[in-house]
Amino acid sequence: MKSEAYFIKNARIFDPTLGLDQAGDVLLRDGKIEALGAGLKPQGDFKTIEGKGKVLVPGFVDLHTHLREPGFEHKETVETGTRSAAAGGFTTICCMANTNPVNDNAAVTEYILNKAREKASVRVLPIGAISKGLQGKELAEIGELKQAGCVGVSDDGMTVMDSRLMRLAMDYARGFDLPVLTHSVDAELARGAAMHEGEVSCRLGLKGMPAEAEDIIVARDIYLSRLTGGRLHVAHVSTLGSVELIRQAKRAGLPVTGEAAPHHFTLTDQACEGYDTHAKMCPPLRGEEHRRAVVAGLADGTLDCIATDHAPHATVDKETEFDQAAFGILGFETALPLSLRLVEQKAISLARMVEALTAKPLAVLRRPYQGLKVGADADVALLDLEGLWTYRAAEGFSKSRNSPFEGWELKGRAVATWVGGRLVHAL
Ligand SMILES: [Zn+2]
Repeated sequence: MKSEAYFIKNARIFDPTLGLDQAGDVLLRDGKIEALGAGLKPQGDFKTIEGKGKVLVPGFVDLHTHLREPGFEHKETVETGTRSAAAGGFTTICCMANTNPVNDNAAVTEYILNKAREKASVRVLPIGAISKGLQGKELAEIGELKQAGCVGVSDDGMTVMDSRLMRLAMDYARGFDLPVLTHSVDAELARGAAMHEGEVSCRLGLKGMPAEAEDIIVARDIYLSRLTGGRLHVAHVSTLGSVELIRQAKRAGLPVTGEAAPHHFTLTDQACEGYDTHAKMCPPLRGEEHRRAVVAGLADGTLDCIATDHAPHATVDKETEFDQAAFGILGFETALPLSLRLVEQKAISLARMVEALTAKPLAVLRRPYQGLKVGADADVALLDLEGLWTYRAAEGFSKSRNSPFEGWELKGRAVATWVGGRLVHAL
């Protein structure tokens, strides 16, 4: 298929990883960035896109998403999930293995990759399971998963409680040069819990999971990384304790990385007041001291990336008692404006934000970073950082509606997204 050529005029061209911040034009042709600079005079057929007042960045990369296909197509599909990702400025996303069947073998990985080839708006990189059926008992065929195209392994949604199995997983993953992405919640300490354990859970009469349920597993996995040399990526870090543990592990030179989800740096457990099931996720929204620690971790690079944990659920999964409701919220279309709030609060710089959404997640996967340079794949997003808009989940592209940010007035969004030079989203 011949892709069209696009001439993006007068944008702020911003790629902090490459030290690029200049006004200019960009020409996308044949799937690549063909030219980039001030006052370009392109030849031939192209569509002009006015970039004045907008910022052109490398497309965002999300290490942590749930596309729900196969098995839960009523919540999301590869098609709808990736369309929503494109609307958020993402051009590459990783999808977790908790589908049905679980992505614990090559056939499921190939199924997802085939769907992606047919239907996806953005690039899809599957994450394979650590254990067969996410049961935490027997190791999945990690070599086979890598061969089929998985870029990491994770039992996300479940914690591998068996330390011996986790040690084995890290050993194998190191052998195959894959990161192990962890969902860190001690299953026993968190049994039956619906939210963070603290004042708010007491007041609401809901069973809470203490911050220590996360800290204990993060500490264990850091020790196992030290023991095996395996690469540990701690997903959706939500506690002060785990930020500090990751900071120490990095200082000690261990191959440990971490990510922060926008809901954890935006909200606290106060959002659960009124039993709003859209504030229910795992790990849960925590107290303010934890939220601040996550922000500080993102600011100093202890937490390398911003990842959405996009977790669509059908209305019936959320319109129920708080302790019965499903964990998780939508993430793609609110990630940028929520991250920009941190920039506006001067908690992080715009450069740090962009790096946390582009080069850093690729570094976790040890995939090459191309960014905004001539000859690179044309995976780019044009952002409006100033415009105000009201978020309505129903106006978004996900099949689901579960967001605690419904009705929020937000600032900033992607106005256009290209993947391999193909325009996959335009406002
Ligand atoms: Zn998780």
